[in-house]
Amino acid sequence: MLDHLASTVSDSDFNWQAADAAHHLHPFSDHKSLHQGRVRIITSAEGVYLTDDVGNRILDGMAGLWCVAIGYGRQELVDAAAAQMKTLPFYNTFFKTATRPVISLAERLTAMAPGDLNHAFFACSGSEAVDTALRMARTFWITKGQPSKRVIIGREFGYHGSTTLGAAAGGMVDMHRQGAALPDFAHVMPPYWYGYGGQMSPEEFGLFAARQVEDKIREIGAENVAAFIGEPIQGAGGVIIPPETYWPEIQRICRAHDILLIADEVICGFGRTGRMFGSETFGITPDLMTLAKGITSGYIPLSAVLVGDRVADVLINDTGEFYHGFTYSGHPVACAVALANLDILESEHLAARAEASGIKLRAKLIAALGDQPIIGEIRGTGLIGAIELTADRRTRRFFEKRGRVGALCRDHCFSNNLVMRAVRDTMVFSPPLTITDAEMDDLVDRATTAIMATQADIRSEIL
Ligand SMILES: *Cc1c(COP(=O)(O)O)cnc(C)c1O
Repeated sequence: MLDHLASTVSDSDFNWQAADAAHHLHPFSDHKSLHQGRVRIITSAEGVYLTDDVGNRILDGMAGLWCVAIGYGRQELVDAAAAQMKTLPFYNTFFKTATRPVISLAERLTAMAPGDLNHAFFACSGSEAVDTALRMARTFWITKGQPSKRVIIGREFGYHGSTTLGAAAGGMVDMHRQGAALPDFAHVMPPYWYGYGGQMSPEEFGLFAARQVEDKIREIGAENVAAFIGEPIQGAGGVIIPPETYWPEIQRICRAHDILLIADEVICGFGRTGRMFGSETFGITPDLMTLAKGITSGYIPLSAVLVGDRVADVLINDTGEFYHGFTYSGHPVACAVALANLDILESEHLAARAEASGIKLRAKLIAALGDQPIIGEIRGTGLIGAIELTADRRTRRFFEKRGRVGALCRDHCFSNNLVMRAVRDTMVFSPPLTITDAEMDDLVDRATTAIMATQADIRSEIL
């Protein structure tokens, strides 16, 4: 019935729009401006394409919200969920109980993970995983008799979710302004060479940005700092890809000052950067790692914190009860879906495929757009990337009113049935890792049309 209603533009269509406006509060949305236009209602999806309620076929250049790694419509995950729901739809993992899917997933994730991340704690969202990791870091130092080590250092434009702890650790000032600024959080410059590198080479700038962390630790006092948290590649902040020199230096600094290193791999995990984990791509072994999004390819909510031996040993042997957890921690259906998702990621070698496809996609984008005056930089690692739109490509100058050109370009993308997100004036993309060569050509064609239209808009304004 719903499909029938949704397939025609009629009074019933108007009702979906009206009901959405009247009753549905959207996340990260300006409601007034949202409902001045039409809300796109997505009704189905297959592979890398979405279908909306008026029959548009839309190329999903964002894999949902960075999560649908294996593409839409994979029956294996549907079957895994159905089978698990039939046998045991729910049981908790509190109070001396477990289920087989959660044990299997803990074993499998820790076997895949780099370093000594040999223990897994489960939650339902990336935000909860971050919240958990931060609670663990502080509990670790409290247990060790160093309760003053509380401060969490994050970065400008960092995104660590929407719980208050996660938002405080992140560097989104708009979130801080709405009640999410907390004491004992500090922020440093991101390794954003395009924006902040000035005359430095990317390699020099990577070291420079990392040393901001060391300066911050000295300023606060290492005896007051619990952890540094960072996304290997900052996703929501504009796909900020650090120079190669950055992460090894961060790891050195954390070790030198005895600060825990938390890699927030909610986007980078599960093949996105061309290796299974972003920490492998950048050559680090964090103490704690947060995972979500690609863990189930978004088919069902699930997240995890992987915990290294040093922290786990203290939590297991010395803390006593860790007063933290969620009703759905280790939900058996979500874990069963995650296991089926990992089967596909591994059997189809999607991490390696992401690396190869990313190289092709960037080459295609550079061939199509590289010479245009509006293009400042086309960057990427694996299948996460960004196109910087610029007012002056020679000096890497930003547009005066930040975000306006990006929003314009995003709207042109949408009109061309392509989902790309704008972060300030940076267009970001992160398609399903299964994207084919022909689909990448389609993505590049649509992106080129949108960007040329944006450039034309700017020119006509100037004239
Ligand atoms: C999306 C994201 C989160 C938050 O995940 P939710 O599932 O939305 O709570 C945390 N960290 C990073 C790096 C993310 O990209």
